[in-house]
Amino acid sequence: MQLIRTISEMQQFSKGCKLSGKTIGFVPTMGALHDGHLSIVRDSVKANDVTVVSIFVNPTQFSAGEDFNRYPRDYDGDIEKLSGLSVDAVFLPGVDSVYPDGYKTYVEVRGLSEKLCGQFRPGHFAGVATVVLKLFNAVMPTRAYFGLKDYQQCVVIKKMTADLNLDLEIVLCPTIREHDGLAMSSRNAYLSTEERLEAPLIYKALTEAAKSVNDNSLKTNAIAQILKESLSEMKTLTEIQYASAYDPNTLDEIKTGGITEGQRVLIAVALKIGSTRLIDNIEVD
Ligand code: AMP
Repeated sequence: MQLIRTISEMQQFSKGCKLSGKTIGFVPTMGALHDGHLSIVRDSVKANDVTVVSIFVNPTQFSAGEDFNRYPRDYDGDIEKLSGLSVDAVFLPGVDSVYPDGYKTYVEVRGLSEKLCGQFRPGHFAGVATVVLKLFNAVMPTRAYFGLKDYQQCVVIKKMTADLNLDLEIVLCPTIREHDGLAMSSRNAYLSTEERLEAPLIYKALTEAAKSVNDNSLKTNAIAQILKESLSEMKTLTEIQYASAYDPNTLDEIKTGGITEGQRVLIAVALKIGSTRLIDNIEVD
């Protein structure tokens, strides 16, 4: 497994793979790897000749006052985890090489970026789209892998890929959960014992709400209601940023009039437990 630290070295590695006709699977991450990340890496290893994993805590996707400085970092532990998975290269660019002095260019996926998390994290998705495009240009993947836990990120990246005619396939991977249902996340490490004990209620609330999607007697507003009632059972809950049913393509809230047969519905929440912001979602047919 090669460790690559500069963009030019990364491009050289990928050009070599392409010249020999190899497919490249790419898994971008911010590190502090857990089984959710590793499951995506395994998907890439299965489907591609070469797998590249990047670890880069991207400053431009953190808004002012967010946790960029204290975001968990464990480069040695991450490299050890990846070395057991037939990963070919780990790309660890420095902030200065991604955003050198005088850096000016940002990618903005309008509309989708302002919804859901975008309302509470201004500039977040411009930071995500920009770094993902830069990483794509460095790694030149055949396929890039993203987790559906970050549903809006998946929608934004797919849109950017289509709009900018990027020549690669975006592969979306299922959310991996702890045994008690809590979606795995590097930020779970911030939770106190009491907060961690209550956190599985998020998934419980989502599954309760999902059952109502097929209950024709209920209006869709009822889903938001059910979610909010279930979530407020948590004593450590400090804020619900959003919790409702959404159109999985447009991310618009499905408000009144119920859900039509065959319609896919995204049930998504963002909330704070103590000071830790967590997101989760499920998609229902
Ligand atoms: P992050 O390091 O949080 O930026 O995540 C890197 C990639 O892993 C993103 O595509 C995430 O959506 C994905 N991911 C994070 N947590 C999970 C999870 N619990 N299940 C599946 N994918 C995940």
